[in-house]
Amino acid sequence: MKKEKTNPDILLPESACELCGFTGEEKLELHAAEDTLVIVKTKMTAMELVHVIDTLSEIASALTVHLAHACGSCNNCGDSPDLCGSCAAKQNEKAKSTGGGPVEWVKNCELCQSLLEADKEIQLPDYLLSEAGIPKDAKLEAYADEDSGEITVVEAENQYDISDVPPGLRAVLAMSGICLMELDELIMLEETVYGDD
Ligand SMILES: [Zn+2]
Ligand SMILES: [Zn+2]
Repeated sequence: MKKEKTNPDILLPESACELCGFTGEEKLELHAAEDTLVIVKTKMTAMELVHVIDTLSEIASALTVHLAHACGSCNNCGDSPDLCGSCAAKQNEKAKSTGGGPVEWVKNCELCQSLLEADKEIQLPDYLLSEAGIPKDAKLEAYADEDSGEITVVEAENQYDISDVPPGLRAVLAMSGICLMELDELIMLEETVYGDD
């Protein structure tokens, strides 16, 4: 018997096809990336391309807003007492006129600033890693000892942290007063922040 191709066909809902105008006649191409799959036509006019770009940027902004909500505004990273919604709103009003508030807090918070600039990679030569029994592509974490001046490097406990967030996105969130410490925690906790768990 001849072996059938095992790639699954993707069936698109009819209503979705009506909306995007795919008839089933045209060839489609997939853009697959980590946690994302985008389907577009292989041939497009300039206007069709504009529609795709427009939709993708709309989705990107909506998702950024969603992520921002999940993190929440910075409350001065613990330096200000927890406020109820209405007090916080009042304080935000006041902050706007005096120049304080989440945006300023993030700007002046040492922790948030260090997270804003957190660099992805600690590089060590392969032989050192293999001597320590750490896989070559493992994420590394370092601790400094102020007294001895020694730095200890270990395999990181978490697969992802804020250093895996593109710097541009980090900057946008920080400029809006979103707490980067909170984002770092959400990433490391690996909890669902979009949709129901
Ligand atoms: Zn904060
Ligand atoms: Zn902070």
